[in-house]
Amino acid sequence: MAVARVVTDLGLDREFDYLVPDSLHGQVRPGSRVVVPFGSSTRTGYVVGLKERSHYPRLKPIAGLASDGAQIPVNLLRLADWLAQYYCCPREHAVRAMLPAVVRGGQVRSKRRAFACLAPAAAQQKGDVADSLTPRQRRLLEALIRQGSQPLADLCQANGVTSAVAKALVAKGLVVIEDRVVARDPFAEDVVLPTTPLNLSAEQAAALAAIGESLAARDGAVILLQGVTGSGKTEVYLQAIQHCLDSGREAIVLVPEIALTPQTCERFRGRFGDRVSVMHSGLSDGERFDEWTRVHQGRAAIVVGARSALFAPFQNLGLIVVDEEHESTYKQEESPRYHARDVAVVRGKLEHATVVLGSATPSLESYQNALNGKYRRVLLTHRVDHCEMPTIELVDMTAEAAMQGQAQIFSRRLQALLEDRLGRGEQTILFLNRRGYATQFMCTSCGFVAACPDCETSYTYHRRDQMLCCHLCGRILQAPKTCPQCGNPEVRYSGVGTEKIEVVAQILFPRAVIARMDSDNMTTRRSYSDTLEAFRAGRVHVLIGTQMIAKGLHFPNCTLVGVLNADLGLRLPDFRASERTFQLLTQVAGRAGRGERAGHVVVQTYSPYHPALQFALQHDVDGFYGEELPDRVALGFPPATHMVMIHVRGPEPAQVEATAAEILAALQPRLAPEVKVSGPLPAPIAKIRGQYRYQITLRGGNIRTLGRLLREAVLARRFAKDIEVAVDVDPRSLL
Ligand code: ADP
Ligand code: ZN
Repeated sequence: MAVARVVTDLGLDREFDYLVPDSLHGQVRPGSRVVVPFGSSTRTGYVVGLKERSHYPRLKPIAGLASDGAQIPVNLLRLADWLAQYYCCPREHAVRAMLPAVVRGGQVRSKRRAFACLAPAAAQQKGDVADSLTPRQRRLLEALIRQGSQPLADLCQANGVTSAVAKALVAKGLVVIEDRVVARDPFAEDVVLPTTPLNLSAEQAAALAAIGESLAARDGAVILLQGVTGSGKTEVYLQAIQHCLDSGREAIVLVPEIALTPQTCERFRGRFGDRVSVMHSGLSDGERFDEWTRVHQGRAAIVVGARSALFAPFQNLGLIVVDEEHESTYKQEESPRYHARDVAVVRGKLEHATVVLGSATPSLESYQNALNGKYRRVLLTHRVDHCEMPTIELVDMTAEAAMQGQAQIFSRRLQALLEDRLGRGEQTILFLNRRGYATQFMCTSCGFVAACPDCETSYTYHRRDQMLCCHLCGRILQAPKTCPQCGNPEVRYSGVGTEKIEVVAQILFPRAVIARMDSDNMTTRRSYSDTLEAFRAGRVHVLIGTQMIAKGLHFPNCTLVGVLNADLGLRLPDFRASERTFQLLTQVAGRAGRGERAGHVVVQTYSPYHPALQFALQHDVDGFYGEELPDRVALGFPPATHMVMIHVRGPEPAQVEATAAEILAALQPRLAPEVKVSGPLPAPIAKIRGQYRYQITLRGGNIRTLGRLLREAVLARRFAKDIEVAVDVDPRSLL
């Protein structure tokens, strides 16, 4: 009898041995989901391996296979092992991440519908039986002969009869009703025009050749495709995928959730049709289940999706593309706290798949890996369409305020250019990475500032809804008409968000059609694609938005981009603030002038001499990194070292602080001398949803050694009930 090593869904970070009963012999394999007795109840778990015997004397047998029959492919089990080790998370969390929740849950199943089909007998005896049919029965039968099998309900409805008529035909042996699985197709309504491969530019061809070389060698190489916006990276991906499919293998394309627009999906579906499976958060559970099943059964060869699409259950993977690889949304913020780009590199190594990391502005991590030869860098330096790179100009808002007597939302320069574009029938995008109307509600008499009691952060005012909203926890309340503290009716709203930009722009440009896109008003996939379509079709002249509009969109008639406040991101207390601002500006600027006319970008700022802005102005990616990288090295920040954060959270600040101190005290004697420790300190956002937040930051040393230590000293420890402790390896921010 064999023994199975099982991890349960309890998050205990332990394996348990169970006997495989004879009745399940051959069915229980690594990756199987099983039900096991656990204490006095049962649990579901995953088999992570089989062995001959266990050193535990009395083993219980596995009770059965989980009813959903879900199975994790062995290659993904290996990846989960790596994930758990590296990211220092409970094994169960890593294993669970390999299956989407809908597949794990067992509540969602394939959709079945009753189909009416012609019985084999019907075809032969058509002439004879027709006489014995009522007119309705005949109508139905004829429709079925003409149109072929179809869902029973549709057939009856189209012919104006009830299902009793069909049943009568069944009784006569002319029709069969079958239960069939139908796919819930998320694209049922979309029409996609097929595309054919374009003739590549010399640079594109060189990039494709580099990828092709690795595909042929099956060496799992990583290629950093650094191409300016509009240089045709996507076309390179498409042709590389074609090579991969031609060699009989599958491909995964990761895009940041925010860039997973209908426009992006269309480009892949236009080339590869229904061999493409798209996974994004807009899918219903049923659609998600069907898409996963389709991939699992080998009926799709390409998966396009956000972060978790990386775990697509392919068996014969040839290529992984990570588009916009610098995007911080590739980092998952709950356990397992993995970075999809880095895990993609590991999956590539394990399965000998080529990994392509694409970006106009690579992360410093990947940039450094290219410099030190771990990744191979390929450059696309020109826009394909021979368009010029857009002209970027900075407007010093301090000078602007001095000139006009007070702080301005629109500089005179931006106003004039916008007016000009409206006159010429060209379009404009205005970008501000902050939603809402005003970011502060303050009483002019007593100075009261309305703030969320759970997060100690000031409320954002949403004017259309007359609401105050906490952007950290989502708490909303009616905006008071007078000061809640002193009753003064004079309250001031300050700090500008996209909603205010929309109002002000409409006053300045009364005839312009203006639309806004942020997560406040784009709550459905429809509203999102409708707004984009309206802009693309030219029905909207000015599009205002948050980072939602910064990525991957392509509008030939948009010749002006205004960045209303470039300083927002620069002021964040984070060592990546400068890098992020540089990347975002370059991306936003890339939205301008993607057609025949040159683009113009106006960046409004109070810090015009900041290197992130100055280098973005020159489109000088290497120049910026050439300054930023030595700074990181000098200060000992990633990518020069690895960083690990330990988060401690709980409702009582003193208890949170004490726990953090205890953790550090236990760790410190065992830390390698080169590891730099800071904290425990309150996090920059010190409280969210009533939870106080402390953090310890560790930098330097060997990440694997550190990981093993953290596993023993933090993960294995038990803490007070309402204290939450998390280890975050390679954190995405310091907040
Ligand atoms: P990137 O992803 O680098 O920003 P895109 O892939 O969006 O660039 O390419 C920009 C535009 O150029 C797209 O409309 C694309 O269809 C077009 N394009 C890409 N490669 C070629 C080519 N070789 N010849 C002609 N047009 C191309
Ligand atoms: Zn709050």
